Amino acid sequence: MLSNRHLIATSLVIGCGALLGACGPTNENQPAVVISGTTMGTYYRVSMVGLDKSREPELRQQIEAQLKEDDHELSTYKNDSVLSRFNQYQGTDPQPISNGMADAIITSLRIGHKTDNEMDITVGPLVNLWGFGPTKEPVKMPTQQQIDAARAEIGLQHLKVIQQVNGDFLQKDMPNMYVDLSTVGEGYATDHLARLVEGNGISNYLVSVGGAVVSRGHNPEGKPWQVAIQKPTDKENAVEAIVDLQGMGISTSGSYRNYYELDGKRLSHIIDPATGRPITHKLVSATVIAPTALEADGWDTGLMVLGTQKALALAEKEHLAVYLITKEPNGFKITMTPQFKAYLRKADKSR
Ligand code: ADP
Ligand code: MG
Repeated sequence: MLSNRHLIATSLVIGCGALLGACGPTNENQPAVVISGTTMGTYYRVSMVGLDKSREPELRQQIEAQLKEDDHELSTYKNDSVLSRFNQYQGTDPQPISNGMADAIITSLRIGHKTDNEMDITVGPLVNLWGFGPTKEPVKMPTQQQIDAARAEIGLQHLKVIQQVNGDFLQKDMPNMYVDLSTVGEGYATDHLARLVEGNGISNYLVSVGGAVVSRGHNPEGKPWQVAIQKPTDKENAVEAIVDLQGMGISTSGSYRNYYELDGKRLSHIIDPATGRPITHKLVSATVIAPTALEADGWDTGLMVLGTQKALALAEKEHLAVYLITKEPNGFKITMTPQFKAYLRKADKSR
């Protein structure tokens, strides 16, 4: 997420050896160099095996520059970001964007269509109305009239990416549209960090930004990196399952960390574009493994909006690796697709 609402550890998925220490002691011969910090209202962490310690400052500088560039493109919290300027622009001419941003929007639009518009990057006016964007939380429940007015400003069909030899462009046919890429921001930044690390000749790494992770190769112990899926509680670091990503990207979206209460109701930051209101069903978290973290980050939100049954049906149809946690009267129920099971650590496969 690109939210600066509160700086919380939204990483529902966290790296081995990082917060959990799930991989055991590090090998003295090949220690990991770990560079971490904050970005986009959340935490990032880059663990690299095989990097000469003397190169750490240079890598930190490259990583921070890359994160700054991504934030400058996608942030809706910065008035001068590429996306904010597009949102402020009250016209319908194509506006130039980077090739990476074009790809992220194309992926988001594709996932949007596949989820029956439940994942909708034009949902910004509703996100802001409910106080999950740069605007403050409302003190009163939004009225149906306000919700309808915001809903009239959204719709994936009004947004188009144009890719030409002279560059990539973004075009809207309603001047007052407000695009919100927060839902794919963490995945976007994670993929970029993975590419940056590989570009420096490092093939054993684990990178994460918020709830999105990519890992490749092995950890300092010479074993595959393992990533933990947290239990859906407010407590940090309670492990539900451990996966070995084998070079893939993973992302979790959950409704139990980013919320506030109004009139005694818990309001989640994930909005159902069909009703214009925060989701209310019992699916509390959706985790997706996909070839890129961006793709995983796009799907997880769409699946959260769909709810357990529809999310599972879509995951099966699209052959997605999906892990869902649903609230039941006496605890939580786990459901996953066979594609996800293949990534589970052996001890967890018997579930
Ligand atoms: P997080 O890591 O915070 O759980 P997500 O990837 O689930 O992030 O994205 C949540 C963010 O996406 C919200 O804060 C909001 O800005 C935006 N959003 C909310 N509902 C939708 C939706 N239906 N489609 C696309 N984006 C959404
Ligand atoms: Mg997401």
